[in-house]
Amino acid sequence: MSMLDRLAESYPQTPAVVRLKAAILFAGVRFDPCLLDATDTAFPNYMPYQLPADLPPFRGSRRIHLPYLLRMEDDTQVRLRIKDDSPFVVRTDAHPLGYAIYEGDRRICATRFEEKQPWTSTLTADGTPMRATGLSQHGDMLVMNVAPGCEYFVVPGEGKTRNLSCTFCLYGLPDKQRMDPLGQELYVIDVPRPTIGRVIEACDLPSTDARTLYMVGGSMLDMAAEGERFVRIAEQLAEAGLTDRYYVACGSGAIPREHMRRMKDLGVRGACFNLEVWDPQQFARICPGKASIVGRERWLEALEEAVDVFGPNNVMSAFVGGAELEGEGAFDDPQQALDAAIESGEVLVPKGIQTVYSLFWKMTGKHRGEEPIYTLDFFLRLNEQLAAIRRREKRPVNPEFFSKRAAYMQLEPDYDAADPAFAAVFGRAGAAAD
Ligand code: SF4
Repeated sequence: MSMLDRLAESYPQTPAVVRLKAAILFAGVRFDPCLLDATDTAFPNYMPYQLPADLPPFRGSRRIHLPYLLRMEDDTQVRLRIKDDSPFVVRTDAHPLGYAIYEGDRRICATRFEEKQPWTSTLTADGTPMRATGLSQHGDMLVMNVAPGCEYFVVPGEGKTRNLSCTFCLYGLPDKQRMDPLGQELYVIDVPRPTIGRVIEACDLPSTDARTLYMVGGSMLDMAAEGERFVRIAEQLAEAGLTDRYYVACGSGAIPREHMRRMKDLGVRGACFNLEVWDPQQFARICPGKASIVGRERWLEALEEAVDVFGPNNVMSAFVGGAELEGEGAFDDPQQALDAAIESGEVLVPKGIQTVYSLFWKMTGKHRGEEPIYTLDFFLRLNEQLAAIRRREKRPVNPEFFSKRAAYMQLEPDYDAADPAFAAVFGRAGAAAD
């Protein structure tokens, strides 16, 4: 039986396009030469692909940045990776989108590659490449990270610093090469004005074609200082009119209510404070900085305060699906991880806080960073149950905050957009499971 047929039999509640997305997230696609031709126009994968030895070099190189994202006709977005043993392949096709996905010899549906954003190849007025301003784009979400260094990596102690970073995190490492061009200094609230100015210049371009502007950054040890940093950035965005143009959201730590209120007054519309892991013991193990410096109770309290300030459809918390199953002290039974994840939805969704589960990629071993910890079945079971909670509570993920076009490794917006119960929110009849 093919993978898609098996999934259709096992997960009839899941829309067909979501099963296909999940299957490709896990199984990848086989290499096809059409991927090379698409490199001129497609949004590139940051990880280069090494051409197999039996193929000639492409434009003199064997390391190629292949397309990163597939975009289906209904805007479902999927992260692409090449796996030689995948049953799926993308080929050129007569359909107006230009390509189609095949499972074996069976044509499944038309697709295309998400295109390169034209703004990323231009320069700011002071000659900085736009893509080096701290701004990146996934579908219709701009992610602004002008202070990437996270202080949890270097918590001052007696005579030396301690690393209390989240165990899965590499992107928050205080790396001079990333921090210096942005002018970020650890333990300092302000990011230099010219840094924010350059991001504003990029966000101001009509060609971003984005709807959401998501402010993120590494954590500060002092939540009030971190709140102040985000307020000051939001002030500059508001002055530039960007809080009118975009749905601006704050992706900080559990900052004080006062800072949430000031941001709301400036036009910021949503907040996402990532708890990462629901189970209290696993949270303390995986996120030692968040657990010991802020505390789980305060984190949950801040999420509830954010609902008071921004409103119930405007608050989210992201979770790293599978982190509880890796490392010393991990759950030994995947069912425990599933139960904990469902509990997060049962507790948070009725309060107006959306849970969003990203796949966690293995951090150790031969397939470091390449293979998810969850199985495909686990991921679908988890998502079906969380979607049922959102349906029961009549609380879909807010598409202005987190849309199908932005979710390239998560499934929540895909389930909700296809759910007939949420047709009014998405402006069209949902496409129920076929
Ligand atoms: S708080 Fe955790 S996930 Fe966020 S940047 Fe720091 S270490 Fe990484």
